[in-house]
Amino acid sequence: MPTRGDTSPDHVPAWPMTDYHVHTDLSDGKCSLSEVLEIEKESGIRQVVITDHFDPGAFNHLKVAFSDYLKALDQAALRWKEDGITVCKGVEVTIDDAGLPLGESDLDELDLVIGSVHRIDIGRNVDDWLDSEYWGEHKRLVLKGLETPRVDVIGHIEGYLSFPPEEVMPDDLLHLEAAAKVARTHFDRDFYREVAERARRNDVGVEIHCATRTPRLEVIRFLVDHGVKLSIGSDGHNRREVANTGYALEVINKLNLHSDHFIASP
Ligand SMILES: [Zn+2]
Ligand SMILES: [Zn+2]
Repeated sequence: MPTRGDTSPDHVPAWPMTDYHVHTDLSDGKCSLSEVLEIEKESGIRQVVITDHFDPGAFNHLKVAFSDYLKALDQAALRWKEDGITVCKGVEVTIDDAGLPLGESDLDELDLVIGSVHRIDIGRNVDDWLDSEYWGEHKRLVLKGLETPRVDVIGHIEGYLSFPPEEVMPDDLLHLEAAAKVARTHFDRDFYREVAERARRNDVGVEIHCATRTPRLEVIRFLVDHGVKLSIGSDGHNRREVANTGYALEVINKLNLHSDHFIASP
């Protein structure tokens, strides 16, 4: 991650920009590994963690064996070093009650593990998108993720909130608007006080999720004020999203953040 940068009020960060959350066509991304890295390079990103989904049984699970995935990332790291890009090995796992789907020795091969909530197992009342029981369960899983050993970063803490099936929520924008409403209603100060306490105690970063421009600026301010470290992720799945870290830059400028506010380089 960044080395200490210019902290003047209207700076563009002097430290190398990073993207610690991006997908390739080895899971559910649209771009190949080399396409992703080409886009990252063109966008001025200097350190990339490839974080394809490792979610056995899910539609977006890694399409190749884990060992082949690692091999591909090692080869990419060598290839892109010449271009000044550091490529690190990561995965995005789903936080649930079953625990991490990778064993210790596999986890040891990785530079970074993102834990995200993607599914809630309890049924929900589809007529009530703000169902408190459902979101209570979601928050429980987020807090659990913050206590799960080997999770380095919590992904999209209030973006991509778990939603009803597509027939109810067909449109991306609608989804994001609804997620924002859920966040305003249920992701309150008490919740974030607990997030901050656990993130700090367990040294887990909270992601600035650029694809959904979340968490809200005031939430990031609160977390930073409470000593939580941040991580920047485009969560890019296609050419438009990969390396698109504009939201993080806005946040960095508005809150005058510097490298010490971010997790250490993996
Ligand atoms: Zn995710
Ligand atoms: Zn992702």
